[in-house]
Amino acid sequence: MRIASLGSGSRGNGTLVEDGNTCILVDLGFTLKETHRRLNRLGRSAGDIDAIIVTHEHSDHIHGVAPFARKFSTPVYMTPGTYDPNRHGLIPHLHKINCHRNFSISAIDIEPVPVPHDAKEPCQFVFSSAGIRVGILTDLGHVTPHVEQQYQSCNVLLLECNHDPKMLAEGPYPYPLKKRVAGTHGHLSNEQAAALIETIDLNRLQYLVLSHISEKNNLPELARQALEPVLQGWSGEICVADQLQGFTWIEVE
Ligand SMILES: [Zn+2]
Ligand SMILES: [Zn+2]
Repeated sequence: MRIASLGSGSRGNGTLVEDGNTCILVDLGFTLKETHRRLNRLGRSAGDIDAIIVTHEHSDHIHGVAPFARKFSTPVYMTPGTYDPNRHGLIPHLHKINCHRNFSISAIDIEPVPVPHDAKEPCQFVFSSAGIRVGILTDLGHVTPHVEQQYQSCNVLLLECNHDPKMLAEGPYPYPLKKRVAGTHGHLSNEQAAALIETIDLNRLQYLVLSHISEKNNLPELARQALEPVLQGWSGEICVADQLQGFTWIEVE
């Protein structure tokens, strides 16, 4: 399987997951023009995308979805709560998914995982094909036992390291927004991400991608520092998903 990112963070998200035959785009928070530019950088074009899966309705995840799907007739998968016809308009090939039931797109199996986040029906996803598991886990305020269970044994994990609690507390956000971000239905801090990693069997994990890093309330270096103690002895690779650059293809067999 291969995975790459168009960009990651509160100004727009988009992740590509491929198994050689099928290319899935998870979330699209960019304008059409920006999407073309970012796909191009990864050697892909709009016509290569077989399906879009949406995690939740915050605009950094859904902004570009309906315009893209209308223009390229791309099938879109999301929970009923995520789709708002008044806001998103018509999506020609819309599949409403049950966030407690696995589904598949060609040979890629997809496990939705409901997460605690301040959206209507948010879920994150684990993708598997030919025994390889790729987990995407961002936009959640805390790790539930179900999340902990579902993200075991991934080969690649994109994990939210949204904020450093001290930077958030001392940073520029107005107080209500600070409270929201740090709350149980906000975003994972570096420490919360590290606590999840501590529960995970690292034997299968080859790549850990630090994701949805706040540009105002965190630094990639702080995220790394928080995670290093729980990754002692682990021989995999840490990558950073950047707001502007995303990250380039990671391949696991
Ligand atoms: Zn987000
Ligand atoms: Zn969100």
